[in-house]
Amino acid sequence: MSTTRPEELLAFDREHLWHPYTSMTDPTPVRLVTGARGCEIEVDGRSVVDGMSSWWSAIHGYRHPELDRALGEQAARFSHVMFGGLTHEPAVALGRRLVDITPAALERVFLADSGSVSVEVAMKMVLQYQRGVGRPERTRMLTVLGGYHGDTFDCMSVTDPVGGMHSMWSGLLPEQVFGPRPPRHDAGPDDIAAWSAQLRAVAAEHAHELAGLIVEPLLQGAGGMHPYPAECLAVFREVADEHGLLLVFDEIATGFGRTGHLFVSELVTPDVLCLGKALTGGYLTLAAVLTTDAVARGISASESGVLMHGPTFMGNPLACAVALASIDLLLSGDWLGRVGHVNERLTAGLAPLRDLPGVVDVRTIGAVGVVQLDHPVDVVAATDAALAAGVWLRPFRDLIYTMPPYPIGTEELDRLLGGITEAVKAG
Ligand SMILES: *Cc1c(COP(=O)(O)O)cnc(C)c1O
Repeated sequence: MSTTRPEELLAFDREHLWHPYTSMTDPTPVRLVTGARGCEIEVDGRSVVDGMSSWWSAIHGYRHPELDRALGEQAARFSHVMFGGLTHEPAVALGRRLVDITPAALERVFLADSGSVSVEVAMKMVLQYQRGVGRPERTRMLTVLGGYHGDTFDCMSVTDPVGGMHSMWSGLLPEQVFGPRPPRHDAGPDDIAAWSAQLRAVAAEHAHELAGLIVEPLLQGAGGMHPYPAECLAVFREVADEHGLLLVFDEIATGFGRTGHLFVSELVTPDVLCLGKALTGGYLTLAAVLTTDAVARGISASESGVLMHGPTFMGNPLACAVALASIDLLLSGDWLGRVGHVNERLTAGLAPLRDLPGVVDVRTIGAVGVVQLDHPVDVVAATDAALAAGVWLRPFRDLIYTMPPYPIGTEELDRLLGGITEAVKAG
């Protein structure tokens, strides 16, 4: 291991490395990580509970022996080969497993190298399908306000116009069609009906030019940590069917049990499904797009006859091997019980925060807990306060939230709740 002193590492980092959504010239501080094990990471030399699962991905925590072993064994065989003209067991085994555990109609698999790329591939599938079935004029996507689908340009185009900085990119982003944000998770039938009528009206008005409908099912993540009623999913399906649109579920954040469903797609089957983030248990970047036989045939009937996409690291064997091990680990344990336990403790432990000054809402879904403030969070102050309480959090906008690794222990959960409380008070 390098013996470079922490101060030197941080000094170079500050001068030369971009961090997510951060200024290069006036960056907010970053902390040095020197290790991670179980549900804790070592930050500035101190072990703290990870409340973020490294952005939804490390669902089993860190350095899990079975995932470490799968990675090591595959590295000893071969780490990567091109996927053009070649295949290998890790990709085949992962593809088979994904087909098995997702809804029966989804049986064709594209392995992409990140969530954003998988959304790009999904949208390309939708467009090529419409061309293949003789509707080349259908080129726009329908989506809802408040969504987040990634950071590349087409992904930004279906992300919420404010969150996706559409005004900065006007003229450069494809112009998509936005319906209203689904109502709150505890909305009553009248609110759901009103929302549905608005969405149907927008869809009907633009139907002649719409190719697909893309949403994050049940929970909008980075667009505002907004859970919404399951009834809305059937509305999406009906709107898509009524107007000949392909329905794309972006389950990059919700997949693999986070909401209490292994996949939300178990409730309503989409035509195209994007998976990422927790796919490899947080070890490596990998995403997958699954679709139906009918969509695959439509794509093949388009003028090129092939899906025009093929990243260099498509089907990376290390990532596939660790993804397979992660899925095995998830399904061989009581993930539903774990997520239920986390939900109970988060729900009970966060409820009292409603009474703190500045808190406007507290909500949970599955292993996700959210505290919404009436002002933008002071991220530096909130992060510092959480760290002082032994917890790693990364708030954004007006939200302090957590989605911990599923195996998090009772003491760790209590510490996490304490850290959130301190962050809310400081932020
Ligand atoms: C994180 C995320 C993406 C983008 O995935 P990356 O791997 O960061 O490119 C897309 N959609 C949703 C719903 C996400 O949460």
